[in-house]
Amino acid sequence: MTLDSNSISKLIEFRKQLHQNPELSGQEIQTSKRIADFLKDTSPSDIITGLGGNGLAIIYDSGKPGPSVLIRADMDALPIQESNNFIYKSQSDGVAHLCGHDGHSTILAGVGLSLAENPIKKGKVILLFQPAEETGQGAAAVINDPKFKKIKPDYAFALHNLPGFERGEIFVREGTFASASTGLIAHLKGLSSHAAHPEDGRNPDRALAQMILGLNYIVSYPDDFDDFTLLTVIHAKLGEVAFGTTPGNATLMATLRTYLNSDMKKLKREVESTIRNVCKEHKLKCDIEYTEEFPATINSSECSALLCKAAKSLDIQVNQLESPFRWSEDFGHFTQLCKSTLFGVGSGKNHPQLHNEDYDFPDDIIEPSVKLFVEIVNQLLNN
Ligand SMILES: [Zn+2]
Ligand SMILES: [Zn+2]
Repeated sequence: MTLDSNSISKLIEFRKQLHQNPELSGQEIQTSKRIADFLKDTSPSDIITGLGGNGLAIIYDSGKPGPSVLIRADMDALPIQESNNFIYKSQSDGVAHLCGHDGHSTILAGVGLSLAENPIKKGKVILLFQPAEETGQGAAAVINDPKFKKIKPDYAFALHNLPGFERGEIFVREGTFASASTGLIAHLKGLSSHAAHPEDGRNPDRALAQMILGLNYIVSYPDDFDDFTLLTVIHAKLGEVAFGTTPGNATLMATLRTYLNSDMKKLKREVESTIRNVCKEHKLKCDIEYTEEFPATINSSECSALLCKAAKSLDIQVNQLESPFRWSEDFGHFTQLCKSTLFGVGSGKNHPQLHNEDYDFPDDIIEPSVKLFVEIVNQLLNN
């Protein structure tokens, strides 16, 4: 079940088209149309558009009972100005495919071309083109969309290209592959007063300082948690630039990261209790909110074993990662839904890093990645 050289060139050409026409998270309207158009001749049994925003599901149903296999690609670009100068460079100022989602979508489109040539014998395959991965909102929006109800996947797979890793090799891990992360925002409210009379107000300055130290203190005792836990204070604001005023409010923001979802719950509890205790001590009101929440991506051993078997049969080198990645991926939502695996494909040891302004997806990992997904489908649906 391989693609001929004609299809491969068509795919590379398509990848460059996507690269040239990037769209930001939540705005992937043309990208979604372009992909649906590219796959219209592959005779899918169903096409679902507008999933969780601009998401697109292309479904190939054998009509016979069997598992539902979902393969997901992200398709959004980043608000960064590309510095590359090649002919297919981004045509949108300040927007570019610098995370390789153009490549991920192309690989998935390649799976569609292959399924058209070699239809599955049982079950169904769902090619899910997911919006808004970079903002961490797309996966949850897709899963919570009522139209997703008829998809009901039994298995889900996805890949991300990995600069800094040997090109074309596979990197996987059982259990946590990518961390859980959450943005924390704490609003502190005291009382402003004249700068000459701070005693007439309640300045949150000492509370803010105490809180920054206190939050860092929580994660300085790793034994309190079952696995890796990190807290990074990313922003703090006290009052306004007004020399005549004692400030009456403050905002503190931090990013929390853990390898385990259970540790994230615990970390949130401890963070909240530290913030509330400090506020109580300084007689401040406080409001705590969370944003950009990613659950940990937890790979199932069954899916990881399938991936390894498929890679082996194609002579692709598989490497087991010793520890999870500290970054997060919103594919974590799928891993809470069904047996799933997210894996990495090396982009090359010296390849520019993701989100670098000179990054470009390496086209020569398209073909092996398509073959790998197709082989996984084969093992599940054609045996
Ligand atoms: Zn990215
Ligand atoms: Zn990405």
